[in-house]
Amino acid sequence: MLGLTMKRAMGELALIERIRSGGAKTGKRTEPNLVLGIGDDCAILRSPRGHEILVTTDFSLEGRHFRRDWHPADSVGHRALARGLSDLAAMGARPLAAFLSLALPPEILATRAGRAWVDHFFTGLRSVAAQLGVPLAGGDTSESPTNHILADIVLVGSAPAGRALRRSGGRPGDSLYVTGALGGAAAELAAMEARAATSSKPPRMPSPGQTASHPQLLPQPRLAVGQALLRRPLATAAIDLSDGLSTDLAHLCRESGVGAEISAAALPIHPLAAAAGNPLALALNGGEDYELLFAAPSTARVPRSIGGVPITRIGYLTRGTAITIVNPEGHATPLKPGGWEHFTPKH
Ligand SMILES: [Mg+2]
Repeated sequence: MLGLTMKRAMGELALIERIRSGGAKTGKRTEPNLVLGIGDDCAILRSPRGHEILVTTDFSLEGRHFRRDWHPADSVGHRALARGLSDLAAMGARPLAAFLSLALPPEILATRAGRAWVDHFFTGLRSVAAQLGVPLAGGDTSESPTNHILADIVLVGSAPAGRALRRSGGRPGDSLYVTGALGGAAAELAAMEARAATSSKPPRMPSPGQTASHPQLLPQPRLAVGQALLRRPLATAAIDLSDGLSTDLAHLCRESGVGAEISAAALPIHPLAAAAGNPLALALNGGEDYELLFAAPSTARVPRSIGGVPITRIGYLTRGTAITIVNPEGHATPLKPGGWEHFTPKH
């Protein structure tokens, strides 16, 4: 018993070292808000002057948010952090620090392939952290009591006091915009499912330069756009598109107490979705695009792109609560929330 306990403890220590090696060194000029990182009982963060603190958490559960036979480990790490950062982006916040809690099944800790999986998970996570300047400031690891990997990310960010973008600020007459393109993540997931059904080879990780053609594996949180919308200021309300436009638009409308009308013809369709048989359904309901949906006064000068990310006007907010979509023939029909519920575990 003691031997096994020791072995597990050693494994855990090694994991903590791994988190630490990818974690933040405090006192660097690039991380002025991290007073104390990994190594003590708590991290210490310094709130930027005049800012409020924003906190969001996101589970990445195997069989619910990813599958080991579909998603390369690097992508699981990338997506775990990107999803949390997308929530900060939606509120115009800038990230201060990330925290990771990781539960790993015994077979992952005991096998070389399993340890390689963890290495690649951290490679993916660290690459997003480095690209977007987010220090990994703490974490916890445990042996999972199930056969499933569980990763929980906590993101702490900040925004100027009283100015964080909320879902609730939209007003009738405001124009509605989305960033980037829609439906690509769900289209790529469908292709990954088809590939896994016919191939026993492990999924391949695309190179970091191929983000545009891999919206499912390498989603790009729109932090710079969110911060620009807050700074200028442009947006009256914003949300990130995690569950799909139809569902997330309904969230924004409910919180703002308004309805909306969007135009199917105006939706920016991702090329992967356009090549699939059902581009409109993917764009409306596919989910996991991690683009931003925001409202801005009709008189606001919203640029066509921010930091190289295209901005597209897709409709406007209305009085009442009805949400409608005008099809390319000009007919308006109710838009029902049909968003992504992620996939049901198959094992
Ligand atoms: Mg969100």
